[in-house]
Amino acid sequence: MNSTIFQKTNILGKTLPEMEELLINLGQKSYRAKQILKWIHQRGISNFDEMTDLSKDLRSVMKDHFIIEAPIISYEELSEDGTKKWILDVGNQDSIEMVLIPEGKRATLCVSSQVGCAINCSFCATGKQGFSRNLKASEIIGQVWLAANSYGAPRTANDKNITNVVMMGMGEPLHNFDPVVSAMNIMLDENAYGLSKRKVTLSTSGLVPEINKLAKVSDVSLTISLHAPNDELRNILVPVNKKYPIQLLLDAVKNYVEGCDDKRITTIEYILIDKVNDTLELAKELADLLSQIKCKINLIPFNEFNESDYLQPSGNRIRKFKDYLVKRGYVTTIRSTRGDDIMAACGQLVGQVNDKTRRKERIQRAKIEAQSI
Ligand code: SAH
Ligand code: SF4
Repeated sequence: MNSTIFQKTNILGKTLPEMEELLINLGQKSYRAKQILKWIHQRGISNFDEMTDLSKDLRSVMKDHFIIEAPIISYEELSEDGTKKWILDVGNQDSIEMVLIPEGKRATLCVSSQVGCAINCSFCATGKQGFSRNLKASEIIGQVWLAANSYGAPRTANDKNITNVVMMGMGEPLHNFDPVVSAMNIMLDENAYGLSKRKVTLSTSGLVPEINKLAKVSDVSLTISLHAPNDELRNILVPVNKKYPIQLLLDAVKNYVEGCDDKRITTIEYILIDKVNDTLELAKELADLLSQIKCKINLIPFNEFNESDYLQPSGNRIRKFKDYLVKRGYVTTIRSTRGDDIMAACGQLVGQVNDKTRRKERIQRAKIEAQSI
C-alpha cells in the first residue's frame, strides 16, 4: 500500500450506519460497529489494540484503514465559577473553543460548529472574527469526546458525565448541515453518548430552508436567536434576516415543532443591548409577535468585548424587560454570564481573534460569504 496516497479514515465522526458501511466495505461484520462506537465514545479509546473484545484480525484491519483523531487541546482554563474553557487546534492555524458548564448534577457542553461565522451579527465576537471553514463531523463530536474524556471513562448511556449539549459555540450550525446532523446523531446514539433529544439543542440565527430540512431528519431542541421583534431592527442585528425575515422564520419554527413527536417548546434567545433593543416598547412588540408560537424566552445580557461599542443594559432595565414579558404570560429567564472571567461567555468565543493579520483576512472572507448567504 502506498502511504503517500492512501489516507486513513478518521472514524471518530462516523455515525452507526456509516460505521456499519465502512465495515461491510472491508468484508467485516456490520454488527461490530456498535462495539466500536462504545469503545470510542463510552470508553474514550483511540488505540485499536485496546479494543479487546474485537478479534486480532479485525483490529489489525482497522489499524490499516482507520484512525481515531480529535482536535488537539492547545489551552484549557478553569473559571472561578467552575466553567471550563478549552481552545482546540484544528490545523492550519485555525482554533475553536468549547465550554463546559457544570451545574449540580448537570453538565452542559457548548460546542462549536465552524471556525468563525459568516453571518456577522453586529453584537457577536465570533461574527467579527469572520469565517474560516466548516468543522468536520469528527471535529464537532471530537469536542464532546474530549470533554467527556476529561472526566475519565467508562461512561455509559445511563451514567453520563456530560448531560446536555448546546450548539452555541462558534459558528452557525445550520450553515454546516450534514456534519452537524451526523455529530448530533452520535450524541443521541445509545452506543455513544445516549443523550435525550431534548438535551441536545441546536441554536440558529434563522436559516429558514435549513430549519425546514432539519425538520425532516431530526427532532432535537431548537433555539432561535431572535434578538429583535421587527425586521427593521433585526436586519441590523442579525443580517441574515434580510434574506429570511421574521415571519418566514416563525413559520419554519411552527413547522419544525409540529414534526416533533412530543409537545416541544421552542426557546427564543433575545440578547439585551443597552438602548438598542431593550426598551419596554420593544418588549411589548416581542410579546405580541410571539403569541403565535409556544415558546419560552431566554434573555441574554450583552457580553461586552473590545471590538464592540454596544453596552450591557443596567440590571434595572434588564429586570423591567423581563417583568413585562412575565406579566404577559411568558416563561422568561435571564441567562447568567458564566465563565465571564475567562472569556467563555456567549459571544466571547473567538479562537484566534487576537491574531490581527488573520482576522483581517477573515473579515474580508466573511464579507464575501455574507453576500452569498
Ligand atoms: N450561530 C448560532 C449559535 C451560536 S451563537 C446562533 O446565533 O444562534 C450562541 C448565542 O450567543 C446566540 O444566542 C447569540 O446570539 C449569543 N451571543 C452572541 N454574541 C453575544 C454577546 N456578545 N453577548 C451575549 N450573547 C451573545
Ligand atoms: Fe454567527 Fe451566531 Fe455569532 Fe450571529 S450570533 S455571528 S450567527 S455565531
